[in-house]
Amino acid sequence: MCYSGREKTIPLSMKDMPRPVGAPMAERMLKEDETPLFTAKNYVRATCLQEAYDLNQKRANAILGGGCWMKMGARSIGTLIDLSGLDLDQIQEEEDCFTLGAMVTLRQMEAHAGLCRALGPALKKSLRHIVGVQFRNCATLGGTLYSRFGFSDVLTLLLALDCQVQLVGAGLVPLEVYAQQPYDRDVLSHLHIKKNGRKVAYESFRNTQTDLPVLTCALSTDGQTVRTVVGARPGRAKRSSMELALGATEKEVADYLQVLQKELRFDGNLRGSEAYRRHLCGVLFRRALGQLREGM
Ligand SMILES: Cc1cc2nc3c(=O)[nH]c(=O)nc-3n(C[C@H](O)[C@H](O)[C@H](O)COP(=O)(O)OP(=O)(O)OC[C@H]3O[C@@H](n4cnc5c(N)ncnc54)[C@H](O)[C@@H]3O)c2cc1C
Repeated sequence: MCYSGREKTIPLSMKDMPRPVGAPMAERMLKEDETPLFTAKNYVRATCLQEAYDLNQKRANAILGGGCWMKMGARSIGTLIDLSGLDLDQIQEEEDCFTLGAMVTLRQMEAHAGLCRALGPALKKSLRHIVGVQFRNCATLGGTLYSRFGFSDVLTLLLALDCQVQLVGAGLVPLEVYAQQPYDRDVLSHLHIKKNGRKVAYESFRNTQTDLPVLTCALSTDGQTVRTVVGARPGRAKRSSMELALGATEKEVADYLQVLQKELRFDGNLRGSEAYRRHLCGVLFRRALGQLREGM
């Protein structure tokens, strides 16, 4: 993690950043002289998902994932709802899908043999820049997906696949729908990743190794057409409505990119300008396409 040279150890990547596009409102960003800490009046280790859901309906209460994001803010929480007693830290591989509990850590995902086999190098590529191994041992999938950060590497990768989130209240929701929804008081219990043989490639660009990404890009293919997801624009990752033939000619690729760069909205922030991101989109897209074509 990157620290400022002053007494306060506020990670630079957060301190220098305005509240990221799409960050949960609950996490108020720190003032210069504030200590990073949230406080909670009560703590409940939920005994079932329904209990967690019921408690979470109160605005003052909050679900605790790994707490890595929450601890960056100074929120006063009524009841902190801990999901760690609900066996949600398991990754199960079935014939047609992977089921991951909300408390699975990013590191568990990265180290899971079945997931690595199914998603190839893209899985590790999407996770390895997220701060460091110790951090990824804490940060959870549930906290990551709920937060739907504009800069999320994980969301970019998963949107290129066929995924569904399991919510306690709303039930099964396709990830591409959930990714666009506003924050609510539902509790995410699981993620299902369909095993349908899609090959995926992942690319991101960062100014420094563990900074937040300037742009993220994931491509996946069923062997016929290519699906594109671009994130950190700096808005939330979005899957393009258009697909490209895997064997498209150079002219078709150039045309596709031109339309893609118009379809997706890019913006500037301290990490890169709008024009730079638009340009990077073409670069990362071509790198990822090359990997898909080579069969990775
Ligand atoms: C310094 C820093 C750098 C980072 N860099 C990157 C990066 O480069 N790329 C990247 O992709 N990500 C990055 N992240 C985000 C990180 O990967 C996680 O997504 C983030 O920490 C949230 O996970 P968590 O387990 O810590 O969630 P928490 O902090 O525990 O929770 C976050 C929010 O989600 C809610 N929540 C948690 N679990 C659930 C659930 N099951 N159901 C409903 N709501 C829930 C909480 O109430 C809270 O509002 C970074 C985070 C930090 C703090």
